[in-house]
Amino acid sequence: MEPVVSFEQEDGRPVSDRWRDIVRNVKEEYLSETQEYPWIVGFSGGKDSTVVAHAVFEALLAIPPSRRTRPVHIVSNDTMVESPLVMAHLDDVSRLIEGAVDSLELPITVARTKPDLDKTFWVLLIGKGYPSPNSQMRWCTDRLKIQPTSTYIRDNVSKFGAAIVVLGVRRTESIRRMQTINKYENVRGTNLNEHASVTGALIYRPIVELSTDDVWEILGSFPAPWGGSHRKLFQLYRDAEGGECPVVLSKEEAPGCGTKNSRFGCWTCTVVEKDKSLQGFIDSGQHAYKPLVAFRDWLVDIRNDPTRRSAIRRNGRLTFDVTGKHIPGPFTIQARREILERLLQVQEEFGAELISKDEVDLIHKLWAEDLQTEEGLANV
Ligand code: SF4
Repeated sequence: MEPVVSFEQEDGRPVSDRWRDIVRNVKEEYLSETQEYPWIVGFSGGKDSTVVAHAVFEALLAIPPSRRTRPVHIVSNDTMVESPLVMAHLDDVSRLIEGAVDSLELPITVARTKPDLDKTFWVLLIGKGYPSPNSQMRWCTDRLKIQPTSTYIRDNVSKFGAAIVVLGVRRTESIRRMQTINKYENVRGTNLNEHASVTGALIYRPIVELSTDDVWEILGSFPAPWGGSHRKLFQLYRDAEGGECPVVLSKEEAPGCGTKNSRFGCWTCTVVEKDKSLQGFIDSGQHAYKPLVAFRDWLVDIRNDPTRRSAIRRNGRLTFDVTGKHIPGPFTIQARREILERLLQVQEEFGAELISKDEVDLIHKLWAEDLQTEEGLANV
């Protein structure tokens, strides 16, 4: 096998040559004779994972059908509070990929993961009263992003003995990303490194040395192999003023989620100071998103309002920090009702689903259970 081409130094070659090298490397990795573990391509719909999906697609098209024996999964995750415009883009591209996969008879499965019903943003915030997440108490990333994707990978590991996760991570994405990439060396004699938290999973990073400019140049130069161009992606980034919340696979990568860099994150994200993605869309004329931004800002405002928080934690105890300061418990049932009412109003105004019926049903069930516990405590 030829060595992986490094783009660390600008080599002055045209982007078409460098792209050809990437596709060739992906093809050779796919045809690796040492193993045939399934590939799971983490697909967020953002620029980096689109380039990777594009490269995998091209590589498969260059392989004779009889040798396309390794299954490939293109997997995206829906946090169920994803920015609606990003979700619409992801749905469109997923549909196009599915259509092309069928007509070209490629061994690709397009899949979508999502959090378990009892771990969604709304069920935890409104049903159980978890205070809106912030940087100290970011209870959402693991439940909304890491767990659903990890479960999909684990299922494949138990079925096939191992699985290879193909990611669009790049060394120059951020300092933290560079540190994570530098921390893990490739498994000897391979282009793969071990997954930080899923045993049996290996990571393959075909575009690790590309710069952001390279990525945009590739997207701008080569039409999407599933049909159409990547033009809509350019528009999406332009409107959202850049940034993205990439595929998050482990806690050590999670600081990128919910920071000023993560403008393609959940529309409800109260970890960021100001929502940038929806605000960007509003600034570019999409005023339908105004009520969503106002609702998110309100969630930030009420977080530390003592009148909306229980004195005791969900475990029935009063809690204090090391300085003796009282730490309030979850949102009161009354506050949770208020949040749900407001959210349903926003949903009505927005004209599309923001919370599912199953979530609302479970929220009512959780309130009934909490009220019973409160009554029980009052009668002690
Ligand atoms: S984008 Fe924000 S709300 Fe969504 S998982 Fe990340 S930190 Fe949590």
